[in-house]
Amino acid sequence: MSGFSPMTRELIIERAGQCCERCYRYARGGSIHHRRPRGMGGSRRPETNAASNGVLLCDGPAAADGQGGCHRWVENHRTEALELGLLVPQGHNPRTTPVQLHVGLVYLTDDGMYEHEEPT
Ligand SMILES: [Zn+2]
Repeated sequence: MSGFSPMTRELIIERAGQCCERCYRYARGGSIHHRRPRGMGGSRRPETNAASNGVLLCDGPAAADGQGGCHRWVENHRTEALELGLLVPQGHNPRTTPVQLHVGLVYLTDDGMYEHEEPT
């Protein structure tokens, strides 16, 4: 269970063009990663399941190409993922935290867009 509503999932997958938003590989079967993790009551806060908190990441097979997929990469490289905005600390709002994706450094909106300007 991802926690994202079907409508929000659709916004994210459409924004991503069905490709992994980190490496741009086709990722229709990928999963939507929570930038700011749920937990500690986080799932009750509205931002948790907003489009700005979700990134479509590929789920590669563990060892087939030695790559493992970007979802696993984020989980295994938490410090780098925090620096890239792929992870957002609990006290921060994913909407106002930029993230480094294949399109560059962007802010994610809650209606499924990339923005280059910091939201006001
Ligand atoms: Zn990927």
